[in-house]
Amino acid sequence: MTKIRTLIAGNWKMNGLKADLDEIKQLEAATAHADYDVLICPPFTILPMCIWQFSKTTIAFGGQDCHTQKSGAFTGDISAAMLKDIGATYVIVGHSERRQYHRETSAVVKAKAEAALAAGLTPIICVGETKEQREAGKQYDVVKEQIAASLPDVANADFVIAYEPVWAIGTGLVASIDDIATMHNTIRDFIEVKTTRLLYGGSVKGTNAKDILSLENVNGALVGGASLKAKDFAEIINAARS
Ligand code: PEP
Repeated sequence: MTKIRTLIAGNWKMNGLKADLDEIKQLEAATAHADYDVLICPPFTILPMCIWQFSKTTIAFGGQDCHTQKSGAFTGDISAAMLKDIGATYVIVGHSERRQYHRETSAVVKAKAEAALAAGLTPIICVGETKEQREAGKQYDVVKEQIAASLPDVANADFVIAYEPVWAIGTGLVASIDDIATMHNTIRDFIEVKTTRLLYGGSVKGTNAKDILSLENVNGALVGGASLKAKDFAEIINAARS
């Protein structure tokens, strides 16, 4: 069986000023000899600075969103081609905050994932159920529906899926190890390509990372709050060490 390379990704959301590049500097030791990938998705304003300043490190950088189109009259938007142009290698699409606050449907997420691939970026496609959907026992159907409708229609595409239960994002609530394992096994059985990386996201911290990352079908983590400070993110990165 092909070994799937672990990916530890940080999503800074709408956080981060120039001074916060210092947090990334402090991660250089933790990432120097990593036998897995470490990615940071800072806000667009500091993304080029991060890419240029840390070009000699092993840390990859990506966007938190992109438009479905390459260019045009879309005020305030950023295209996948623009991200590629400045040296980004990944882009998050369909984060639950985009689905919720910007009303992004799975069809839009799919178009964004396809735009990312066309530009030469690896999309990280987020899916996950709400608290109400879980309480109604619909989590597996919801996630499978989202995956079916959000994945790109591109042969041999390299993309990442992040399972992020909405109720666990930024709340301090983490899905139980059994729930994470069952959902990730369900997703693995559901998708065609068995080498696709499946990340878990939702209040991952240094204290729970090892248990989550040791699950068979968890190939990494998408980390929000705990990726903002080098000390917290380094604990998660170190937990990925095999
Ligand atoms: C996220 O934003 O993708 C996320 C998982 O956030 P947090 O780790 O803060 O729950």
